[in-house]
Amino acid sequence: MTERRGILALADEPLVARVVAAGGKPFHARSLSRWVLQRGIDRFERATDLPKPLIASLDTEFVPLESTLAEEKRAPDGTHKLLLKLRDGETVETVWMPQREGAATVCISTQVGCPMACRFCASGLAGVVRNLEAHEIVEQLVHARRVGPVGRIVVMGIGEPTLNLEATLAALSRATSPEGLGISARKITISTVGIPDRIRELAKCDRPYTLALSLHAPDDALRHDLIPTARKWTIADLMEATREYFNASGREVTYEYALLGGVNDRESHALALVRLLQGERGCVNLIPYNSVRDTEFRRPTEADVYAFRDTLRRHGVPATVRWSKGLAADAACGQLRIRHQAS
Ligand code: SF4
Repeated sequence: MTERRGILALADEPLVARVVAAGGKPFHARSLSRWVLQRGIDRFERATDLPKPLIASLDTEFVPLESTLAEEKRAPDGTHKLLLKLRDGETVETVWMPQREGAATVCISTQVGCPMACRFCASGLAGVVRNLEAHEIVEQLVHARRVGPVGRIVVMGIGEPTLNLEATLAALSRATSPEGLGISARKITISTVGIPDRIRELAKCDRPYTLALSLHAPDDALRHDLIPTARKWTIADLMEATREYFNASGREVTYEYALLGGVNDRESHALALVRLLQGERGCVNLIPYNSVRDTEFRRPTEADVYAFRDTLRRHGVPATVRWSKGLAADAACGQLRIRHQAS
């Protein structure tokens, strides 16, 4: 028997065609989608309102989910880190993060590995293997919902989403559709290292997703040192593209800034960031670095983190600190996958 594909590999129209070809009705396709996406069934026979001949036909060619849970880690703060095994044996990470109020936030990945090679990131160390397909992105949400309810999505996992834009947007379209997961587009954030043309492309999708720009440095010299693949673009180019994104979407941009002890966390860096962001709409999200094996960077002290934040705030730049969740669960992006590969 040939290997069976996940049913979500079929987009809406091909799914209806496949169901009808097996003797079902178009509404059975919608029902099937709901069973897989919303209820996360592991066998078609659990979809009790589908005709038995249709289930038998689907079973010959498809499975509800193509990816399987290879490993799961739970941190004391309730964060769950999932390592999912894909059809070709590659793995990808997804993180379910409980919130103080309401449903959890899920961090999803868009590529196997990442081509951006940020020097401080575990995922960048080994480069990119391939793009994820749309259903491989959606399936991460289905697995995460098995942990608990999901209210927000951050596309901040492994990979640069704007380099896999078509699949990412197709996956998010299923996540936001009432027939899919029904998550508001306003509760979805897409994080990018910042490729100006790709940001403009994203702006054309006309959905109110929040854009998070991974800035990490207030000047080109330091940024290019930390993200050598970003040397083609200046911060000025990025700021122009993010302004265009704001004008198109009406959504304020978040500036992500990984605080690296002794590298970009001095007061002079904070003041340079103030100058850069003067007059811009948006806020700064400070992420104290999580030490990663094989990189030379270190976590800043708590005092330095709050001093940096307070300098920004004192000069009128809104800033928050996001302490990484689930430190005990290999929470730094890519660590679980890397450890799995090494084992
Ligand atoms: S920090 Fe993000 S963009 Fe940079 S290498 Fe890691 S996964 Fe890629």
